[in-house]
Amino acid sequence: MQYLPVCLQLRNSPVVLVGGGTVATRKARLLLRAGASLNVVAPEIAPELEQLLAEHGGHWQRATYRKTDLDGRVLVIAATPHREINEQVHDDAIALNLPVNVVDSPDLCTFIFPSIVDRDPVIIAISSSGRSPVLARQLRSKIEAMVPGSYGRLAEFAGRLRHRVKEALPAETARRLFWEKAMEGTVAEQVMGGREDRAEALLEDMLKDVEALHCGEVYLIGAGPGDPDLLTFKAVRLLQAADVVLYDRLVSGPILDMARKDAERIYVGKKRDDHAVPQVQINQLLVDLAKQRKRVARLKGGDPFIFGRGGEEIELLARHDVPFQVVPGITAASGAACYSGIPLTHRDHAQSVRFVTGHLKDGSSNLDWPSFQSESETLVFYMGLVGLPLICEQLQLHGRSAATPIALIERATTDDQRVITGTLATMVDIVKREQPKAPTLIMVGGVVELHGELAWFGGTN
Ligand code: SAH
Repeated sequence: MQYLPVCLQLRNSPVVLVGGGTVATRKARLLLRAGASLNVVAPEIAPELEQLLAEHGGHWQRATYRKTDLDGRVLVIAATPHREINEQVHDDAIALNLPVNVVDSPDLCTFIFPSIVDRDPVIIAISSSGRSPVLARQLRSKIEAMVPGSYGRLAEFAGRLRHRVKEALPAETARRLFWEKAMEGTVAEQVMGGREDRAEALLEDMLKDVEALHCGEVYLIGAGPGDPDLLTFKAVRLLQAADVVLYDRLVSGPILDMARKDAERIYVGKKRDDHAVPQVQINQLLVDLAKQRKRVARLKGGDPFIFGRGGEEIELLARHDVPFQVVPGITAASGAACYSGIPLTHRDHAQSVRFVTGHLKDGSSNLDWPSFQSESETLVFYMGLVGLPLICEQLQLHGRSAATPIALIERATTDDQRVITGTLATMVDIVKREQPKAPTLIMVGGVVELHGELAWFGGTN
C-alpha cells in the first residue's frame, strides 16, 4: 500500500494553499468545506476564489510565495502553474516535516486528494494511488449510484442513538450485532424514508429483545478455486458478517482479506498425509464457536459439497441444532475448465462429464475403472497428482486409447495457473519433468485438444 487513507480533522486548523487559479479554487472549496482556516498565497487569484474566501472566511495573502508562509501550518498544498514554485513549496514543506500535496505531480506529494463520494457524515474516498484518476472517478460514479443520498441521514441517526444503545448493550459484540441488524433492516429504511420517530420506536423494540439477535450461526461457504472475483455475492456478504473465519490452504489470501479486519482467523488446513486439524475436531470447533454465539464462516475451496467434506461438517451442526447456511461455490473443475479453454462438455467431443476423486488409499484405488471407458465422457480427477501414473495406466488398461488427450491444470484461476498437456501415454514423463505444484486438477478426454484454440487466461503454456 503506497498511501494510507486517513480522515483528517481540519476544523480551524491553519492550512496554506499556494496558487490562485481554477485548480486552486477546487482545492480551496474542499478545504473550506472541511472547516480549515485557509490562507491562500498568490499575487493574483480567480474572482471565483476571491468570492469563495469572502463567503467562508478564508484569507488571501496577495504576494508571491516565501518559505515563511509555511510557518505554523499543518498542511500544505501547491497549485501554481509554475513547476519551480511548486517544487520549492514541496522542498520547504519536506524540510519542516509538513504533509504536502502538489496538484497533478504525484512525485511531489506526501499525501493525495482522493475522489470523494460525499454523504456527509459518511465520506467515501477512492484513490488509485495517483496511477489513474480517471479510473478512480469512474469507480466513484459507480459508488455514487449505489449509495443512496440519504445514507448521511442514517449515519446521523446512528450517531444520535449511539449512547442510548451503548447503555443498553454494554458488551461490544452484542452491540455490533445489534447495529448490523438495525442498519440493514426496517429501521434503516424508516430513517432513509424520513420517518425517524418510527425508526426510533422500532429500535427500542429491538433493544427489548436482544437475545433473539445474537445466537451463533455457521456459514459453510464455497470460496471458489482461487480468483477472488469468482466468489458469489452471498459468499462475500456472509464472510464479511463473520466473527470467526476457519480456512484451509485452498483458500487464497485475497479472499481471506475480505473478512472483517477484527474477525478471528483460524487455520485448519490439511496437507496431504498430514492432517493439521483432524476432521472431527473441525466439526466440533464449528459447534463450539457457534454455541459461543459467534457467527462462523467456514471457507472451503471450490464448492463445499464437492470433495469438500461439507456434508460431514454440517451433520454435527444439525445434530446440535446450530443454525447454518451452505453457500455453493465454483468448483475447481468449472474454474479450471473456463480459465484454460477446456470446455467440460462439447457437442463434438463429450456428452457427459464426471468428477472423480484421485485420492488413493494405500497406493491403490477402488475406482470403477471399467465404467470410465466412454470416449465421449470428460473425466475430471480431483486430488489426482500422486495417483497420476495409476490413472493413466488404468484408463488405458480399461479401453481408453493411449493417444487420449489429458491436461493437468496447476493452481487454476490464479495468476500462477499453468496448463500441462499430453496423452495418456506421455503424461507421466511430462509431469515428472515439469514438477507441478498443488493444487492440480486432471482432465481427460477429447475436449483437452481445444485448449490451444480457446485458452484466453494468462499463465498457460
Ligand atoms: N471442494 C473443492 C475440492 C476439494 S478437493 C472444489 O469444489 O473445488 C481438493 C482438490 O481440488 C485438489 O487436490 C485439486 O485437485 C482440486 N483443486 C482445488 N482448487 C484447485 C485449483 N485452484 N487448481 C487446480 N485444482 C484445484
